Amino acid sequence: MYRKLFIPGPTEVREDVRKAMDFPMFGHRMPETSELMDQTVTKLQKVLFTDNFIIIGTCSGTGLMEAAVRNCVKKKALHSVCGAFGNRWASISKSCNKEFEVLEYEWGKGISPGDIDEKLKTGEFDTVFITHNETSTGVMNPLKEVAEVVSKYPDVILCVDAVSSMAGAEIRVDDWDIDYVVASSQKCFALPPGLAVASVSEKAMQRSTEVEDKGYYFDFLAYKKYWDKAKQPSITAALNLIAALNYQLDKIVNKEGIENRFKRHAEMASIVQNWARENFALFADENNLSPTVTCIDNTKGISIKNLNEELSKRGAFLSNGYGNLKEKTFRIAHMGDLTVEEIEWLLGEIEDIIG
Ligand SMILES: *Cc1c(COP(=O)(O)O)cnc(C)c1O
Repeated sequence: MYRKLFIPGPTEVREDVRKAMDFPMFGHRMPETSELMDQTVTKLQKVLFTDNFIIIGTCSGTGLMEAAVRNCVKKKALHSVCGAFGNRWASISKSCNKEFEVLEYEWGKGISPGDIDEKLKTGEFDTVFITHNETSTGVMNPLKEVAEVVSKYPDVILCVDAVSSMAGAEIRVDDWDIDYVVASSQKCFALPPGLAVASVSEKAMQRSTEVEDKGYYFDFLAYKKYWDKAKQPSITAALNLIAALNYQLDKIVNKEGIENRFKRHAEMASIVQNWARENFALFADENNLSPTVTCIDNTKGISIKNLNEELSKRGAFLSNGYGNLKEKTFRIAHMGDLTVEEIEWLLGEIEDIIG
């Protein structure tokens, strides 16, 4: 059964993008791979406004989140947490045996740059972790302001989870001075799951040379070594997915234009936010609303499960609340290649179902 996905990943993948994965196989040590990687990386750098080194990982976003912990934390990590995905990153530090502290906020609230500054003044930390867009609560954190604070501390590395915002919201890696930023293929890039991408600053790369016990698969230096040698991946990468990424990036950068893509996301978000204010309430703080996913407070106490069953019959699917927020909230993702028309159609169907 085909259902258009309004969930925060995987998102709807257009047919032409799916077809971009269908070609005769070539080898990962052949020139075709070097050319594919070169084209893809150049366009990713445009999406992130950076000249930094780019990793394309054959893993989901969580893989390259783990890579950040393994390569960047030498002394002690500061994890800012305002939802489920911030928690996940702290759990990764714990499972990698790293020293860390959690700076925690109520779900629905955003992170305060001033609090990060206070923590960094102690000199205890060498790495800061922040979730740009907290998918569990529909909160977007003030990344630029946090980056400004972290930039005052030359020995501190800033790692950003932009899994559900990259290619949907502005992230200016070089201007804002972001050391590491990671995303998955199945969110705003509107690709199938299975790839993660990240940009790595020289400072983060240097840190990786100083850290021990990084494991094998996610060592930044391995990615760098094979890139320097032949612009190839260190392992047998998911070449078909990378080809789809290359194709999709062409659409993003050269056809739609990255600024237009951000504008479309903002427009879809504002439609959903207004609808939520009129019909329910917003779960996230008004000052931190996400342009890619809206978490709606289920003030009418409707059954989200039933709503989704009815929506499914009409060819759509949205997302229940995350974890403890299940049935108390529901989420509409307005990310990837979805259009204003599709969002308006979905809202109309919901109104029709709930009456
Ligand atoms: C989806 C998501 C993740 C997890 O990504 P995977 O690709 O499933 O590993 C991490 N962080 C955020 C903010 C997300 O939205």
